[in-house]
Amino acid sequence: MTSISQNSSTATRRLDVVIVGAGFGGMYAVHKFNAMGLKIQGYEAGSDVGGVWYWNRYPGARVDLPSIDYSFGFSPEVEQEWTWSEQFAAQPELLRYINFVADRLDLRRHIQFNTRVTSAEWDDARQVWVVKTDQGDVVEATYCIMATGPLSIPKDPEIPGIGRFKGELLRAGRWPHQPVSYAGKRVGVIGTGSTGIQIVQEVGPQAGELFVFQRTPSFTMPMRNVPLEPDYVAEVKRNYAGLRESARNSPAGGIRPASTRAFFSVTPAQRLSLMEDAWKQGGLAMLGTFSDLLVNEEANEHVAEFVRGKIGEMVKDPVTAEKLKPRGYPIFARRPCLDSSYYETFNLPTVHLMDCNEDPILEITDKGVRTQSGEVELDMLIFATGYDGLTGAMLAVDVQGRDGLRVSRKWSEGARSYLGIMMAGFPNLFMTTGPNGPAALANIIRISENDVDWIADAMRHMSATGQTAMEPTAEAEDGWMKTVAALSQRSLLNKAKTWYLGANVKDKPQGLSMFTGGFPKYREYCALATQDGYRAHFTFDPVTGSASS
Ligand code: NAP
Repeated sequence: MTSISQNSSTATRRLDVVIVGAGFGGMYAVHKFNAMGLKIQGYEAGSDVGGVWYWNRYPGARVDLPSIDYSFGFSPEVEQEWTWSEQFAAQPELLRYINFVADRLDLRRHIQFNTRVTSAEWDDARQVWVVKTDQGDVVEATYCIMATGPLSIPKDPEIPGIGRFKGELLRAGRWPHQPVSYAGKRVGVIGTGSTGIQIVQEVGPQAGELFVFQRTPSFTMPMRNVPLEPDYVAEVKRNYAGLRESARNSPAGGIRPASTRAFFSVTPAQRLSLMEDAWKQGGLAMLGTFSDLLVNEEANEHVAEFVRGKIGEMVKDPVTAEKLKPRGYPIFARRPCLDSSYYETFNLPTVHLMDCNEDPILEITDKGVRTQSGEVELDMLIFATGYDGLTGAMLAVDVQGRDGLRVSRKWSEGARSYLGIMMAGFPNLFMTTGPNGPAALANIIRISENDVDWIADAMRHMSATGQTAMEPTAEAEDGWMKTVAALSQRSLLNKAKTWYLGANVKDKPQGLSMFTGGFPKYREYCALATQDGYRAHFTFDPVTGSASS
């Protein structure tokens, strides 16, 4: 593809593409657009590549999808040269993989690290994005790619007094790079989502005492992680192309167990036997046991009760076990967690479950956490309190489109987009894994690859037809938002207060802003958008005379 950048006589550097973020989406974008011969610049706030896996170095951090599935599929060389050691890789191995990819594809020379993009403003007269950073950079680019990720803005709990704590205060999503010691310390963890669960099972046996502040218990199932045998790895490497293809064609964009069997279509004895098998098998097997778990509340409750029974078997103290049993929302409506010893950790005499519903946290003090019943003195306090998900990272940048329209205004009543990739009023601005796409409901790497490939095709189309700016029509965006809303109405995901709905952030517009129709259907919609020369869903600006080099 011909680069459309021009040498500028001014000091402002003129680029074809600015890419914000160097996680999976940003890394693939850098590779792809560079290979297309475009003049690119990546910016990343961290000191290196990796996105969430760069920041989340907390103890026990581990992917809960199979590693072979949770890896790039666009490069056969990378697939053949990298060997995963475990079914579910831990964060250090994931970061080694990400660094291997960056080295192998020589990505770092296109990325400026320790640099946060602060604003991006569309100059309609010149049809460029003017992008500024906290390091004083000002660049202009035809295209701006926001590969900022759905989970990159960690959220502190809304508890007064955080600044007063004199002990060690650690945030899961901003974990220090140096080793942390828990030995002999009184440690508190606030938050019992996927992150808190991984931290608790790791820190519990090491800490002098561990206090787990739980507001909403999560359902977690056994991960049953195993090392990957060389024969298995060799087989996977022979079949990667087929594996990627079947992942792209599966609802969650990954090799996950799935079933066409409805819960009540089999006898109670068969259901029990299937659930026992899934429990023994571990991983996300339970989610794939029946087809209707996310739409049939009664079926869902049966599975939830089965898991509650297992919690009761694993936790010795019946009062603690009861408190750990999630109630009041459907299983899988919060993100399903996988653990290796979470519930058993509460059998240690040094690990204490603090029930924030029975005994609410009032404030953080200089010594620890004050609850209604008294003060818990701590040497270390860990926040595993989640993220401003889906929209937080986009809104952290002052993005201004046509006629001064800001994303913050456009999204004031909830995120709006077309396919989770583009927005009306924001020409040539693209998101990867954006809101209203499948986001957290499918394999994030498959979505990133899909989105970057789609963006590349759109750029090629514009280059081939001599056009300089494209954006979805308001009708296309409205239609997409209606599709997303209609699908989400049926989903039980609406029945739990989660970051999926924006429920964890005060004053955030509420609603399930993810496409729940499955990854293959999403890809169909992406393909549909390009038909007929993109004419049905997009408007294009004509050639302005600057599109050659
Ligand atoms: P999360 O699921 O949003 O959980 C945050 C936790 O903090 C919740 O238990 C929440 O309780 C609690 N909390 C927040 N404010 C509180 C307060 N003031 N007092 C007491 N508790 C409070 O966040 P997360 O665990 O970081 O997970 C976010 C997402 O990251 C996951 O859904 C998953 O997509 C991803 N993740 C993936 C992996 C993996 O692949 N292995 C690991 C970690 C995370 P309430 O529910 O009551 O608000």
